[in-house]
Amino acid sequence: MVGLSEFLDIPTLLFTVAAASFCIFVSLVLTWSSVRGETCILSWAAAFGLAILTMLLVALRGLVPHGLSVTVADTVLMASFGLLWLGYRQFVGLDNGRGRWIAGMGALIWMVMAAGTPLLDDMNARMAVLSGMELVYFLFIIADLVRHHRKEPLPSVALTTVVVGVHAAMQVYWVVSAIVAPIEPATIVLPNSLVMGLRFTESSIFVVFLGLLQLVVIGQRSERRYRIAAETDSLTGLANRGRYFDRTEEALVRGAARGALILFDIDHFKSINDTYGHPAGDRVLIEFAAIVEATASADDIAARIGGEEFALFLTHATTDEAVKIADRVRLATAGLRVVAATGLVNLTVSCGVAGISETGADYQALHVAADRALYVAKGAGRDKVAAHRPSASGAGACPGPAVIPAR
Ligand code: GH3
Ligand code: MG
Ligand code: MG
Repeated sequence: MVGLSEFLDIPTLLFTVAAASFCIFVSLVLTWSSVRGETCILSWAAAFGLAILTMLLVALRGLVPHGLSVTVADTVLMASFGLLWLGYRQFVGLDNGRGRWIAGMGALIWMVMAAGTPLLDDMNARMAVLSGMELVYFLFIIADLVRHHRKEPLPSVALTTVVVGVHAAMQVYWVVSAIVAPIEPATIVLPNSLVMGLRFTESSIFVVFLGLLQLVVIGQRSERRYRIAAETDSLTGLANRGRYFDRTEEALVRGAARGALILFDIDHFKSINDTYGHPAGDRVLIEFAAIVEATASADDIAARIGGEEFALFLTHATTDEAVKIADRVRLATAGLRVVAATGLVNLTVSCGVAGISETGADYQALHVAADRALYVAKGAGRDKVAAHRPSASGAGACPGPAVIPAR
């Protein structure tokens, strides 16, 4: 083993990392004071608080009672890992009583083992068990983060998963190295061997990196939530007008050769409000939005662009396909019965369709054409689908279930 004592002193390293961890602890508490709903921040801050205590107790080995620097320090470290995992569970929305119990188990098991078996008197055995238990908590964290990724794809969470994964792999290495190549036990001062030096250096980088990532994760989550709220219609959950126009422009800039637009306008909606009340009108909007959303595929863009006006931009459909889709929405809407306090609400919708093949890939032209078709559908008696047909007189209305638009 090569001694590292000339250029790496482990107690100094521990004091430095404890100071850096204290800065992260304060930053986490400060972040929590402005994002109070995020209880995970408090768990992470508490984990950092306990980790700092461990670092100080280990750094002071030889100066404080041995039991304090070994058994107590490692028990506190286990509690810290438990809190760290609990924080990530809270972050992904899986916090429950069972999780809290498991979070505290590590410290409990460690305490029982330390009190009841002589196994942990041996430093190499202690290191192997510690790394093994640490590994379990980190695998739990990775599993939670991987499961959560699709729901909330934040770059900082992906990086956290990688960082925790590397640290978990290092634990496997430490367990194996403690068994295969045990180091010379030392009870008074920390041994400055290559393996110990690497182990403490890796752990120090991990602790600081993880803490900084926690701060970034919370920042990215807030930013994402505000952005989604700013782009979403709060009543129906569909994209709002601003988001809709941004996304359609993006889709057209990508060079769509196909694509069609359906504009929907609920018929006599004002009288629904007047007859059944505004809350019933809101429920109608929600249920109609659900029909439009269920009709849209992943690449399509569904939005509420006005009070009772909705748009569905179909990125791959032809005009004829769009007419069929519009008619499906029209029929589903006519079959809808919305429960209101004073009875069941029936409703119908008028639809205007236009396709890129007729108007060109200019969104304004497409929208104007679909709007004209919608006007024709309204004029033809409502509950109709009309399509823009430039070759004939403009737009034609197709009545009822007939989905082929009149020219
Ligand atoms: P038409 O068949 O010609 O489309 O008639 P309409 O009554 O549907 O159209 P009009 O434009 O006259 O009325 C739209 C109504 O939609 C008026 C407005 O009060 C109502 N509205 C707009 N936003 C909301 C909302 O968020 N909730 C509710 N309940 N009503 C809304
Ligand atoms: Mg309207
Ligand atoms: Mg209307």
